[in-house]
Amino acid sequence: MTDIWSEALQGLQPRLGAQTYDLWLRPIALRQVSGTRLHLTAPNRFMKEWFENHYLGVVLDELRARTDQIFDVEIEVLPGDPGTSALPAAPTPLPLRPAPAAPPPKISSPLVAPPPQLSGRYRFHNFIKGAGNELAASAAWAAAHEPGTRFNPLFIYGGVGLGKTHLLHAIGHHIHAARPEQRIVYQSAERFMNEFIAAVRFNQFDEFRARYREQCDVLLIDDIQFIAGRDRTMDEFFHVFNVLYEAEKQIVVTSDRMPSEMQGMEDRLISRLNWGLVADIKPPDLETRVAILRQKAAHDHINIADEVTLHLANVVRSNVRELEGSLVRVSTFAALKNVPITCEFVSEMLGGPAPNAQPPPVSIESVQKVVATHFSVRIADLKGPRRHQGISRPRMIAMYLSRQLTGASFPEIGLRFGGKDHSTVINACKRIDSIQNDDRELRATVDTLRRQLTSDTGATS
Ligand code: ADP
Ligand code: MG
Repeated sequence: MTDIWSEALQGLQPRLGAQTYDLWLRPIALRQVSGTRLHLTAPNRFMKEWFENHYLGVVLDELRARTDQIFDVEIEVLPGDPGTSALPAAPTPLPLRPAPAAPPPKISSPLVAPPPQLSGRYRFHNFIKGAGNELAASAAWAAAHEPGTRFNPLFIYGGVGLGKTHLLHAIGHHIHAARPEQRIVYQSAERFMNEFIAAVRFNQFDEFRARYREQCDVLLIDDIQFIAGRDRTMDEFFHVFNVLYEAEKQIVVTSDRMPSEMQGMEDRLISRLNWGLVADIKPPDLETRVAILRQKAAHDHINIADEVTLHLANVVRSNVRELEGSLVRVSTFAALKNVPITCEFVSEMLGGPAPNAQPPPVSIESVQKVVATHFSVRIADLKGPRRHQGISRPRMIAMYLSRQLTGASFPEIGLRFGGKDHSTVINACKRIDSIQNDDRELRATVDTLRRQLTSDTGATS
């Protein structure tokens, strides 16, 4: 059975990607089999929950395909893990919860002020989680929860305006609130370099060294790509990294690209940045964009109807900063002109599809293709009338994902599924939504399909 288990996991590797396999599947080990029950172990609770929520379904499917048996599992956390709270499902703001694992501050250790650079606006509770940022947000939360123990270093990368700085600040705030004795150093890589140059020039290297190496419990460095090609700064950062890492201090670094793609970055530094968890952030999907707009509107007291929010989220797709900026621009102009914010007003102001609008990243056809392949059914069946469960479940999932990922309206989706009524599509979306709440396997399957569709390769066609 051990063979079947590792074969099943390895069989999934091409589909899920080597990084996912290494990070989330390989650490889960099969300890024992009793009948159709698999006793698994996970190195910690976070890994256990992540595996259960995201991959268990596909692994069980794979096992079923290979052995023709339906298994259930029990996952035990290996001793030594202090435990982490589960993260909420996307796209909800991360809750602000006290960190149970945080030891009370020692009386003897002085409380330290949070770094003044941390913006009060960037917190976990107002960071909306969605398909594109789920891994990064969860890892950030885990690193903030138990700094220095896992996901160290944490490397978050992604395009401009996607929330990297927001997460970095949120980590700083959270650690400060839970462990006020910890000395948190937040700095952009550019400032780090300028301070370093000034320290060398004005002979203040001891202070510089004390600040980054000795008086630092958590190092948060934003936009590390900036120091690529600056040899002396890279060298200094390398030493800072080593000292802190050795002392098990949490290091979090952001960048606009993955470590190996930072041209001019020293190999030894790239290798170290890869030591922990490398998490990417992709542009938000429609659902997440809507949630972000709603939050921003509520925060800024902007009165905007749901359908206009949806319209705006459809028009501005590139990044969150752009999205929030568009909302502010539209609402400011509407107030100046003393008119309500309507879809027409939005189109008029942003010039129809906004200049930065890209074609929808996912098409209904690609959803149908991916779902049909996953469930081994024909696309014609997804579009056809058959109500057999083996067909109707995949069809509902395909409708649900079409709605989530393509931005198409219910009637349009109905049309593309063989001319079904829009109420059929609405019902399918509601069903899948509610079943997912209880059915972990289904949730994992939907997550996998979503990821497949929104990853670079599966998105177009
Ligand atoms: P980056 O550092 O990746 O360029 P930022 O962290 O500066 O991006 O984010 C740009 C803006 O978008 C900020 O105002 C941030 O609060 C907001 N933002 C980005 N992602 C999210 C999200 N998932 N939920 C809420 N706000 C977000
Ligand atoms: Mg930034």
